[in-house]
Amino acid sequence: MPLANGRTYRAIPGPSETPDAVQRAMHRSSVNIYEGEVVELTESLLPDLRGVARTEHDVAMYICNGHGAWEAALANVLNPGDLVLVPATGRFSHGWVEMAQGLGIEAEILEFGLQSPFDPDRVEARLRADTARRIKAVLAVHVDTATSVRNDIPALRAAMDAAGHPALLMADCVASLGCDRFEMDAWGVDVLVAGSQKGLMVPPGMGFVFFSPKAAAHRPDRVSRYWDWTPRARPEMYYQYFGGTAPTHHLYGLRVALDMMKDEGMEAIWQRHATLARAIWAAVEHWGQAGPLRLNIADPAHRSHAVTTLGIGTPQGQRLRDWCERNAGVTLGIGLGMAPPDSQERHGFFRIGHMGHVNSHMILGVLGAIEAGLAALDIPHHAGGIQAATRAISAAAPPAS
Ligand SMILES: *Cc1c(COP(=O)(O)O)cnc(C)c1O
Repeated sequence: MPLANGRTYRAIPGPSETPDAVQRAMHRSSVNIYEGEVVELTESLLPDLRGVARTEHDVAMYICNGHGAWEAALANVLNPGDLVLVPATGRFSHGWVEMAQGLGIEAEILEFGLQSPFDPDRVEARLRADTARRIKAVLAVHVDTATSVRNDIPALRAAMDAAGHPALLMADCVASLGCDRFEMDAWGVDVLVAGSQKGLMVPPGMGFVFFSPKAAAHRPDRVSRYWDWTPRARPEMYYQYFGGTAPTHHLYGLRVALDMMKDEGMEAIWQRHATLARAIWAAVEHWGQAGPLRLNIADPAHRSHAVTTLGIGTPQGQRLRDWCERNAGVTLGIGLGMAPPDSQERHGFFRIGHMGHVNSHMILGVLGAIEAGLAALDIPHHAGGIQAATRAISAAAPPAS
């Protein structure tokens, strides 16, 4: 008896759900890139992207994924041999380090493990010790999608200021932009890296790098032509802007996604994600009272509102994911970077993506599927997590007046 037929849902932390309106906007034949609609449409995206990132600074758009945006950000401010400091809180911090090392940049890692945010005081102490000012930038992942930790970027800014260190503050917001509150200018961030396929609700294929005048002044001796952010942030020259053919269909999709975000408003978007995240935490904490399921990040203040990493042990993690996919049409995310890639323990973790185009019924559906799976598979749990989740949602949503 197939129970998965019907509209399926990938509750994975990216690519996130694409709204029907975004899909419709992208469903079209080839587009003239030389003049007309798409040229104007492209210019219209910039102010709205700035609004999402809460910045007045420049933004460069690339045809690439988050990895490409990582590289673009580094390539525009650092020379080979430069040193960066990386407070690491999961797989994605290390991924950015590897990208830097590939460019010949030296990376010093401050390791904070897989279950904690970084400690700004340790960053401050390291910066104070850098009297020769060798450290050119601090690379901080806002939300690490592997551990689902959310790092405190304003506290990091304060620590860098307290140390009186001139390094750039560079933030990876690929998972968090459009989900967790992020205010580039108010928080004093010099470079912000994002991608199209998470909070921005567009398929993978576009990368975004926002940069402050201070970051622009760090231009290295050479910047590879493709990653150079200068022409891409200046839409007058359409060709240079994309370094070749524009990602036409993505631009149409992004236009619609940004319209949706403008209509809802950033504060409302952040609140929606926060409420849905609290519903997930409430369910998991309830189930975990009598069983192995637990949230990876203990402190709610440091949990992402876009993704949640759960530990359940092996083989339960794999069995639960399989059950939910087969019987509920819900695909849960695999654990990432929580255990060695060749170990069985890696199957003991899974993730729920709740970024972008998500609402109460989708989240309650995911949680209902998980609770049904826990029961079907005889995995010990305190039944009734769903009620805990519904209470979190009811409490946050008063009746319409
Ligand atoms: C998804 C993600 C990336 C990488 O993005 P890709 O598009 O997969 O290359 C980088 N950093 C974070 C925090 C992410 O969530």
